[in-house]
Amino acid sequence: MNPARRAGIFARLKALNPKPTTELEYRTPFELLVAVILSAQATDRSVNLATRELFAVANSPAAIAALGEEGLGEYVRTIGLYRSKAKHIVQTCAILLAEHGGEVPRTREALERLPGVGRKTANVVLNVAFGEPVIAVDTHIFRVANRTGLATGRTPLEVERRLMRFVPPQYLHDCHHWLILHGRYICKAPRPECWRCPIADLCDYRPKTPAPAPRATAPRTTASRTTAPRTPRAGRS
Ligand code: SF4
Repeated sequence: MNPARRAGIFARLKALNPKPTTELEYRTPFELLVAVILSAQATDRSVNLATRELFAVANSPAAIAALGEEGLGEYVRTIGLYRSKAKHIVQTCAILLAEHGGEVPRTREALERLPGVGRKTANVVLNVAFGEPVIAVDTHIFRVANRTGLATGRTPLEVERRLMRFVPPQYLHDCHHWLILHGRYICKAPRPECWRCPIADLCDYRPKTPAPAPRATAPRTTASRTTAPRTPRAGRS
């Protein structure tokens, strides 16, 4: 894909959504870190439902460490893989307290040393909490980048490196959310909805998915249009 088309895609996504952001609910970098760890292979909605109750009672490393794995598990048990996520979060809280003064570190290296935090989670925290122009390549971004031709690659890291190289600098910070939202709601996994896609003419994917045929409606019959005569109710004698 040439640079003009790439820039055109981001100009359009920006015009439609000038200030994209995460759908995870959070108020502090620590809440975001916990929410992102919980969101692996889970929907943002399920995470928000759990964290609304959790953060109301414990939203700091000390408070969650005090809950312990069992206590935390009670709040997050509706989320997939909750036991291992609870374990990682409690271990992460201990490290934040022991090594970072209870704060979330601002470097990728320090973030990636926390249990349950890989490159993708670290990138989300750096981008969303600290405003760094980095891209966390999740399943949506991986698919959209490859389908459109924005940045092709066999692994998330390959796609991330190409996006970092090819996305115009003014779009780098928000690229992450534009592509996630585009993949989540339009360029969907099993069947991209090309007929209603705002960047269809700039995207390399072929063949485009056509609009679904309008549903056939059964012709109305004469009988259905007329009202059956009402039977007079029998009067009391
Ligand atoms: S045209 Fe289709 S494949 Fe291309 S980005 Fe839009 S929905 Fe995805």
